[in-house]
Amino acid sequence: MRLLVTAGPTREFADPFRFISNPSSGRMGFALARAGRRRGHRVVLISGPVELRRPDGVKLVPVVSAREMRKKVLEYFFASDALIMAAAVADWRPAGRSSKKLKKNRRDSTLRLAPNPDILRDAGRKKGGRILVGFAAETGNLIDNARSKMISKRLDMVLANDISLPDSGFRSDRALLVAVGADGTVEEWPPMTKSRAAERIIARVERLAREKRTHDPD
Ligand code: C5P
Repeated sequence: MRLLVTAGPTREFADPFRFISNPSSGRMGFALARAGRRRGHRVVLISGPVELRRPDGVKLVPVVSAREMRKKVLEYFFASDALIMAAAVADWRPAGRSSKKLKKNRRDSTLRLAPNPDILRDAGRKKGGRILVGFAAETGNLIDNARSKMISKRLDMVLANDISLPDSGFRSDRALLVAVGADGTVEEWPPMTKSRAAERIIARVERLAREKRTHDPD
């Protein structure tokens, strides 16, 4: 298969030095890229700024902002069989980017924000026969939220994780995931390393691809 994987945070700059972002380490996406490669797939990895080494045999496409990530995802999407969006895309960006450092000359200040495009939703609209997998970091109503994301973004599978639980968060080496499938299945996976979780996810994507081929041989 040709796998397209995204990883890491995005950065949304307000001026040359300040940005909005989140603490995503990129480890889940990089583990997915490595697992995909180990299982013999062709992998393109589109990543926001992270401090990780490019996995061997993987094409790495570095990006900074959500809008750059969207452009690259849509560029590679058509030549892919599956997209796994593990990136923690910033939902908002500063409405404007100042070319000069913003001054702290007032007691308080307001930063106007504009919503970023939802990359996964945009890809879902052009899905065709491709497999789409998303992640859902939640702090409550895990399964309901994962299900509604799956429907609105036309996904085949969502990996939901409760980021309010200890050792389940962004920077951890371990993953505590609930796999929610478009066929209605809900599986609580035991805690495991991101590398093990990545192997499971890739195996699922392979199964989904086989099922699609059986139902729709063309
Ligand atoms: O809606 P929410 O942000 O929780 O959805 C999470 C999923 O959607 C993740 O797979 C994430 O990579 C993707 N996403 C995206 N573009 C955004 C926000 C999230 O592709 N602007």
